[in-house]
Amino acid sequence: APAKARKPDWLRVKLPVGPAYANVRRLVDEHKLHTICESGNCPNMGECWGAGTATFMILGNICTRSCSFCAVATGRPSELDLDEPRRVAEAIQLMGVKHAVLTSVNRDELKDRGASVWYETVVQTKQLSPTTTIETLIPDVKANWAALDTMIAGGQEVVSHNMETVGSLYRLVRPQGKYDRSLEQIQRTKQAGKRTKSGIMLGLGETKDEMYKAMDDLVAHGLDILTLGQYLQPTKRHIEVAEFIHPDLFAHYREEGLRRGLKYVESGPLVRSSYHAERHVNVPI
Ligand code: SF4
Ligand code: SF4
Repeated sequence: APAKARKPDWLRVKLPVGPAYANVRRLVDEHKLHTICESGNCPNMGECWGAGTATFMILGNICTRSCSFCAVATGRPSELDLDEPRRVAEAIQLMGVKHAVLTSVNRDELKDRGASVWYETVVQTKQLSPTTTIETLIPDVKANWAALDTMIAGGQEVVSHNMETVGSLYRLVRPQGKYDRSLEQIQRTKQAGKRTKSGIMLGLGETKDEMYKAMDDLVAHGLDILTLGQYLQPTKRHIEVAEFIHPDLFAHYREEGLRRGLKYVESGPLVRSSYHAERHVNVPI
């Protein structure tokens, strides 16, 4: 096998420090919450937590799925925690979060896919923090469209659903997902009147033409905002990085995405779907 490529300089990041970071750390622990920042080993924790933002993961921290890029544990999920919406809403209030990003594991074993907990979390957050805007990064509801309707009905400003990769790599990267089903979920979210957002990880072996196709498909299904970032392998057991994408190519994809009809594209090596998320509430769509 070829020697493992070293991380390029543009992927070096600062370690999290400072009082704002310590405050987020304490509130997350005290409220027994899970963050995607930690489970995903996100390289932006210094910046985001230092600024008082974090992405909360609801519905527990064990996922029914096993995407090959993802550091969240797979297995039999814990019992539904009906107090979780209250704790999330309280932590967001205590942190004084201006823009909250919520996400969850997949709960394929639940009939409603966890939609009632999703709904409660959004509603209770809005009750305690009426001026806080919310992005919900929701899972694949597996074509349970009634569950989708509930998940997006709580008054959140942005609804995202990540495609993660191009169609040809789904079997390898997102084996329990379906490219067309995720596109349909985005389309139905748009038809329900929501601001739509999605994310794709680069460096998994996708070609340029496949990226153009994915962007065209997303435009055709009503996507407003797209995030593009470099995939980083969380542990040796996860799928390997096929390529470190140069910042110039990220810039090119941004231009292409806008030219093809996306309203806003956030594109760069360290971009994650929740990176700069507060900007996505107000970009014209
Ligand atoms: Fe957390 Fe998202 Fe910031 Fe990463 S980019 S630290 S996942 S909020
Ligand atoms: Fe990770 Fe989401 Fe895939 Fe579950 S569905 S393994 S949380 S990316």
